[in-house]
Amino acid sequence: MNYHRFKHLGAYCPKCSRKVELLFSEETSELPQFYICFKCKIIGQFGIGELSTNEFSAFSPERKKEIKACIEEIPDKYRYQAKGSQLRLEEKSDTYTRRWLSLYEYEKAFGEKLGFESIDFREDKYICKWCNQPLEGRRRSFCSDRCSRNYGKATFFKRGVSTLPYRIASRDRFYCRVTGEDLAVTNRFGVRIPASNQQLEIHHLVFVSEHGSDHETNLLTVSKQVHQDYHKGEVYAVQAIENIKEEQLRMHSDKMYTKK
Ligand SMILES: [Zn+2]
Ligand SMILES: [Zn+2]
Repeated sequence: MNYHRFKHLGAYCPKCSRKVELLFSEETSELPQFYICFKCKIIGQFGIGELSTNEFSAFSPERKKEIKACIEEIPDKYRYQAKGSQLRLEEKSDTYTRRWLSLYEYEKAFGEKLGFESIDFREDKYICKWCNQPLEGRRRSFCSDRCSRNYGKATFFKRGVSTLPYRIASRDRFYCRVTGEDLAVTNRFGVRIPASNQQLEIHHLVFVSEHGSDHETNLLTVSKQVHQDYHKGEVYAVQAIENIKEEQLRMHSDKMYTKK
């Protein structure tokens, strides 16, 4: 579930007729869709209309409590440093910058879906994804709603991250492909959670500046350190990454370059 914020031709505020910003899921129209007018300071939901303020008072005490917990427990609220996200939204190689393809653009460019949608680090499917306790009854992921919520919060920032690099990290199970370093967050139960520990970066084997594509075969999860070392020319990093690159080029060179 990845929301995108953008403007669109013909999307005007019903009140002031200025351009509104839209908030739509990349993948589906089944999720609520919104427009925001910064002039009128209103948020509207498609199919419903302007959302009125001050509705919170009518919520059940239980729901109010849930909301409060959500708000207070957004992880790393104060430690959050990066401007965009902890995964890089763009690959910069000297002067060359390009944003990541959306899933739709990916499919159009390569004629295939990206995959790696769901990530589940568990070896045993009958334990809770958050607290490592056995699951009971018909539960398949979490032992309790509380664990489900905590997990959702811990993986919260992936929503600010482009889908593509997140999926590459998922493919590589959040390990550095050069050193095997663990780049996932580990929670207080000692359970690995699919969120970057802020050391995770995605490298283009064929550089963007050399017309390298965003195809998954051209992308590699590496630690920040390895990434820096590679671009500085440190032998261990260059050797390891060049080996992977050669191997990939032997099999996938057609996908690893953008078509001109
Ligand atoms: Zn649990
Ligand atoms: Zn790189």
